[in-house]
Amino acid sequence: MDVRENLEQVRAAIAAAAVAADRKPDSVRLVAVSKTKPVEDIRLVIDAGQRVFGENRVQEAQSKWPGLKAETPGLELHLIGPLQSNKTADAVALFDVIQTVDREKIAREIAREIEKQGRSPRLYVQVNTGSEAQKAGIEPDQADAFLALCRTELGLAITGLMCIPPVDENPGPHFALLSKIARENGIETLSMGMSDDFETAIGFGATEVRVGSAIFGARPSM
Ligand SMILES: *Cc1c(COP(=O)(O)O)cnc(C)c1O
Repeated sequence: MDVRENLEQVRAAIAAAAVAADRKPDSVRLVAVSKTKPVEDIRLVIDAGQRVFGENRVQEAQSKWPGLKAETPGLELHLIGPLQSNKTADAVALFDVIQTVDREKIAREIAREIEKQGRSPRLYVQVNTGSEAQKAGIEPDQADAFLALCRTELGLAITGLMCIPPVDENPGPHFALLSKIARENGIETLSMGMSDDFETAIGFGATEVRVGSAIFGARPSM
């Protein structure tokens, strides 16, 4: 498997989907999702020019990324998995973007850590567009109130929204819902779309797509 070639193909598909949606090819950023992948694989993708990466576990990211960041200046690391409150300090210290702000307790702890550490990762709110019991994210009908709380009461600059549609549903309506909530709240960054549906997501206005297996190859099932 050639990750460099995969990366080129994904970039070309992103550009084509943007053009098909009457958008500029560079209006969509690629977040390469490297969870479960070893640093050797990640280095190949960095060498091919990719600078923005996503990981879903704080502890795994801590074991892989401080070294990679030291080797290559300008890397940007996104947390795309659920944040446990005992990991908030570590997440604020390591990540450049936290995409999974999804409840008041975590939002308060992030605000406290930002104050304490003087480091401000960009913050997105995760919305559970399918209202799935097992999935993280704020309920869609509570998103406006939660965004207001984060912004006015906690002083957090929320710049993006993120969603993971239910696996067995047509993702389009979920992407449309996330886009609507973003529009109504003056939010510009829309993180939506993965290996199987990033082209659809771009059609619905995604400004960031999170692509793992199409670049790195399949992950061992967990
Ligand atoms: C794993 C993961 C991805 C990437 O999934 P692929 O199907 O491998 O592209 C994207 N977003 C989140 C939140 C993930 O956990």
